[in-house]
Amino acid sequence: MAVHNFNAGPAVLPQAVLERAQAELCDYQGRGMSILEMSHRSKQYEAVNTSAETRFKALLGLSDDYRVLLLQGGASSQFALIALNFLAPGTVADYVLTGAWGEKALEEAKRIGQTNVAATTAEGGYRTVPARADLHLSDQPAYVHITSNETIQGVQWADLPDVGALPLIADMSSDILARPFDATKFALIYAGAQKNIGPAGVTAVIIRQSFLDRARTDQPAIFSYKTHAKNNSLYNTPPVFAVYMLDLVLGWIEGLGGLPAIAERNARKAALIYGAIDQSGGFYQGHAAPASRSQMNVTFRLPNEALEKQFVAEAQAQSMVGLAGHRSVGGVRASLYNALEETSCVALAAFMAEFARKQG
Ligand SMILES: *Cc1c(COP(=O)(O)O)cnc(C)c1O
Repeated sequence: MAVHNFNAGPAVLPQAVLERAQAELCDYQGRGMSILEMSHRSKQYEAVNTSAETRFKALLGLSDDYRVLLLQGGASSQFALIALNFLAPGTVADYVLTGAWGEKALEEAKRIGQTNVAATTAEGGYRTVPARADLHLSDQPAYVHITSNETIQGVQWADLPDVGALPLIADMSSDILARPFDATKFALIYAGAQKNIGPAGVTAVIIRQSFLDRARTDQPAIFSYKTHAKNNSLYNTPPVFAVYMLDLVLGWIEGLGGLPAIAERNARKAALIYGAIDQSGGFYQGHAAPASRSQMNVTFRLPNEALEKQFVAEAQAQSMVGLAGHRSVGGVRASLYNALEETSCVALAAFMAEFARKQG
């Protein structure tokens, strides 16, 4: 029996996608072998690669002004690649810090060039996102970097910031394709697939062509976005199975009705868990301030660590897995990514109410 999977990443995948992959595994489209065993230059794989790029752009409403690169290396590699490609000597990159992943992105950029922290909400323990008026942007920064959803703290921008004509870059690893947004406001968006849109191993980099045209070319070819764009993400061997799975997940999102439909479903799921927090009479303490609550990662504390351990263990005994908070912050974290079914949130909300009643 499938469990209720609240893992933070790698995370739950749509059951229909897993079943389709299983059915196609040993004999892909009558070729007598699996897609894992084929050339990445084959007609079959090329179709998968093209389909994933086309679906991605269609879901985000992007024209051919944008490219979608499907790369290895994870979001962590992009922390460095963004600076290697766009942070030239004599320029400065602005970082807005709302949690642990933004800090890591900044640390990598610092190794490569000059940076400015345009805003940080570290002081309150990363419970909020800054107001637009509190962003202290540099004069003509190379780019402005944000993290749309901080996976560890559970803090999400409800409204993504507008920086006008400045190049805006977002790490959307944990909320990409979870809700509609105006993707044309971004020069570059990147996301590791393993939270919201697929398995580990592939990272999507969505990049505006006019921004890409400005990328540096003095780094090793493998670290150049231009190299990967010119070669349609086939410069070297791509993570073929991960891209295949990603394409199936994108098809699944299309089938549900695209981003408006998935956003409604995600909002209902998050409301169930935040409702259980807010109705517990203070037994559960949400980490994020209400206006910055993440719909993807719900983070909260119980009155003490012993109760948190007991909560996670009892939930696990009831087939609810992956609820321990990140090792750096503790507490409880329920990740409610796209593929998590509403029934899992109903089960967790009921468990939370019962646990609070017994222990509160
Ligand atoms: C998980 C995560 C990362 C790191 O992803 P890797 O694929 O492990 O490199 C970066 N940013 C955010 C927001 C994440 O959630």
